[in-house]
Amino acid sequence: MSTTGIPHLTAAEAVAIVERHWGIAADRVVELGSYEDQNLRIDVGAQRFVLKIAGPSDARPPLEAECEVLGAVAALGDGTLQTPTVVPARDGAQIVDAGGHRVRLLTWVDGQPLLELPALDARALRGLGAVAAASALALAQFSPRAPAARSKWDARIAHEVVDEVLADDPGPSEEERAKLLAATAPLRELLAAGEPTPALQMIHGDVSDWNVIATVAAPGRVECTGLIDFGDITCSWRIVDLANACTAIACRELDEPLHALLAVVAGFHETAPLDAVELDVLWPLILARAAACAALSSRQLRLTGDSGYTVAQYAGDWRALDRVLGFPPGLPVAAIRAACGVAPVPDDPWPALVERAEPLPVVVGAAGHHRCIDLSVATDELHDGDWGQPRAVAALVGGRQLALGRWGEVRLTAAGAPAAYAPDALHLGADVFAPAATAVRAPLDATVVAVGDREATFELAPGRCLRLSGIEVLVSEGATVTAGAVVGHVAERGDHWPTRVHVQLTTQPGQPGLGDPRLRDAWLALCPDPSALIGADVAAPPPPDAAAGRARRASVLAGAQELYYDRPMEIVRGSRQFLYDADGRPYLDMINNVAVIGHSHPRVAVAAARQFRLLNTNSRFLYDSMTEYAARLAALLPAQLDRVFLVNSGSEAVDLALQLARVYTERRDVVALQGAYHGWTSAVLELCTGPDNPVWRDTRPPFVHVAEQPDPYRGRYRDDAPAYVRSVADACSAAAGDGGVAAFISEPLLGNQGAVQPPAGFLRGAYEAVRAAGGVCIADEIQVGYGRTGEHFWAFEHEGVVPDIVAVAKATGNGHPVAAVVCRAEIADALGRRAAFFSSTGGGPVSCEVGLAVLDAIAEEGLQDNAARVGTALHEALLALMDDHELIGAVHGRGLYQGIDLVLDRGTREPAPVHARWVCERLRELGVVDQPTGDHGNVLKVKPPLCIAESDAERFVAVLDRALSELGALSPA
Ligand code: PMP
Repeated sequence: MSTTGIPHLTAAEAVAIVERHWGIAADRVVELGSYEDQNLRIDVGAQRFVLKIAGPSDARPPLEAECEVLGAVAALGDGTLQTPTVVPARDGAQIVDAGGHRVRLLTWVDGQPLLELPALDARALRGLGAVAAASALALAQFSPRAPAARSKWDARIAHEVVDEVLADDPGPSEEERAKLLAATAPLRELLAAGEPTPALQMIHGDVSDWNVIATVAAPGRVECTGLIDFGDITCSWRIVDLANACTAIACRELDEPLHALLAVVAGFHETAPLDAVELDVLWPLILARAAACAALSSRQLRLTGDSGYTVAQYAGDWRALDRVLGFPPGLPVAAIRAACGVAPVPDDPWPALVERAEPLPVVVGAAGHHRCIDLSVATDELHDGDWGQPRAVAALVGGRQLALGRWGEVRLTAAGAPAAYAPDALHLGADVFAPAATAVRAPLDATVVAVGDREATFELAPGRCLRLSGIEVLVSEGATVTAGAVVGHVAERGDHWPTRVHVQLTTQPGQPGLGDPRLRDAWLALCPDPSALIGADVAAPPPPDAAAGRARRASVLAGAQELYYDRPMEIVRGSRQFLYDADGRPYLDMINNVAVIGHSHPRVAVAAARQFRLLNTNSRFLYDSMTEYAARLAALLPAQLDRVFLVNSGSEAVDLALQLARVYTERRDVVALQGAYHGWTSAVLELCTGPDNPVWRDTRPPFVHVAEQPDPYRGRYRDDAPAYVRSVADACSAAAGDGGVAAFISEPLLGNQGAVQPPAGFLRGAYEAVRAAGGVCIADEIQVGYGRTGEHFWAFEHEGVVPDIVAVAKATGNGHPVAAVVCRAEIADALGRRAAFFSSTGGGPVSCEVGLAVLDAIAEEGLQDNAARVGTALHEALLALMDDHELIGAVHGRGLYQGIDLVLDRGTREPAPVHARWVCERLRELGVVDQPTGDHGNVLKVKPPLCIAESDAERFVAVLDRALSELGALSPA
């Protein structure tokens, strides 16, 4: 790429040229940059054009051909892909001679280069592939009159380009040279073998993220809408454009590069299905293209020295080359094939090889063995996070016995910690757990093709290998072995994991023992079931079909029961502050206040199991745990709240609280806060005036009175507590005409609004007003209570008030249905005088044991203190994040009940629900579970299990920072 001879017209000269030749009076001229030409943006009012002043390069198609292609593409496309068209000059010419240069004026394609947009999701990447395909389809119908010149950017001849660079003096380093040769070898072999190659056609030649134009249709939603710069059109294979798009993406910072490339390929395939020949050629082509780009950028760096641009280009190109060379051998081809719906490994000879040869067992005693150890995500054998501990797994396998570990199992032991990418948890081989020194045999005649650290790979047939790892190897590379020969012994381990031989069929040496479960079809085709070599069935049952499962759910569950996420992951397991999906991927859970002491807490599991075995009956029998639990609950509350009812859910608790208030006051009217949610029973839903009850305005009964939401951030009276108190008093007055107010109900901290904290003094004033009107005060502590707010156990304590009735649920049972109403004795007695109260399962022995276990864990594990400590640090970190992200309007709440309020404008505080949804989807991709809440669905919840560590909070903030930064760059123009 020579940078000499690029034209340099001044803005004034450009203005004069467009005036003279096109009769256009330009208002503004903006330099656009180009390798070989001068490109200027010409603005005429709101209209834009591109003035292209051709450089001297002769290694390009003639301008006439390019003009013709532009016309053809624009005419042939279906209109979904925007491309520039040539604006004829006044005399009708497409190319004019001006100032000694050949000049064209093109229409402007709206949007911005894909390159400028970070964090492209799978949809956007598929869009890139679809653009490459659409352009290929359009150009296929076009035969240019002028022949296209040979282009160094044509991936079809990438190996020749690499050879030219390798011949430079000085050329690339030895290390670079080796990589360039490795990456071009598959294309060279394919061409040398005389395999069929794809048909030739006209192609764009540079479909990349700088020439594909994207528009941001909605926050975070990138659409690939245009393709520009047809200056590299050439005659080649259409998949060259796909390979170019793939290598352009491989240059980027990516968490999951192979998945990104697969999305691009899938997008192409959806629009222009790849045929068998193209599927064979595509990966060699991608490798070769990456090599050619890296080779050329090395040369450029040597020629021009380290200017910023060249260095960045070099780094990107070599990153791409390292990436594509670094994928496990065989995987990209198999995964591409699987993504295109064809067999990942063509003509699979594995079954014939393994079955016909009647292999001998790798470990003699394992043949016919049936004891398979369940190490899957759903295993019942490992608990409480102990799957990360080798000794626990070793204990499970058990001393000196033989046991088997399954092939095709997603392994909990490989889950690791939450990360921005999914773990390689799919077990590609099988284990024979056996004592150290157990003899390991070759099951078939074979040649030793690789020996590594405690492992060896044997070739059984061309392209069919057996990997045995975890053994002291007794054979050396190149040796041939016969079936039954002892090739090693099970090795001792220094790390306490159980000793074992891992038996894996592979297509070539170098394939890992664990793979990405999302590439299951590809991986298990490359590394098929080794049962025959072990003499026992070691295949894990295949996972249920996720799509069928979702369809079944939709057919049997009422549609009103919604799911989180656009594409919900199947959650299989929970442990402490983490959730695990069916692929073994762990997520940091930022929203489960129900699992207050942590998911699947052993204390709860043990207490429930023990009590279930002993007794579970109804609360009309006398048993001690009910008394004990009620006493423990009452002891946590102010002394006057001393009577406890046990029920099953928050809705029931609030419903009962209402009944109590009504019976006690002999009134019916209730005052609730605007936007409240208190539960779903018919009586309770009448009080709900938020998004969970969208019809409330039409259905609100006359005895329900709604007071202003005391939201200092967005509420009508901002932080004017007396004004909100007046609103409550007014509502009480309105009730007076109907017999008077029975009760006022609120969350002391507005949990469903996203932890909005009413202005200081509000609750005290409201309680006074309600009591003055003869009503009682109900605190709904269902979301915000139970130690979550840190400093105090109950949220009302922060406000210096004492309610008359408290409703508590969710955290009480850590997910088991346990809920309670606690009130003053005289209120409870009023109900007792009228009728008996009985809930069949409310307060049953199991529920009470669970409730006690939760309280014990909160106390013994210092979880309330942890909520205060981690919550404070988290709050400060979130506030600091506001410096970098205008989108955060406020951070509400305290302790481990907070809300991150996303706004379009800090001045108007207009909520940003679309942004909030995007952020939550993105956080999930990055390994964090979060959801929006609030009246407008724009507040990110922060209410994790209270056992969350400070490091988790830090990670949450870092991941949120990243998502918000990406979103900042992905906003509609
Ligand atoms: N009150 C509040 C404040 C709640 O948030 C909820 C549930 N989200 C309920 C009551 C109802 O609880 P449940 O779902 O256990 O019936």
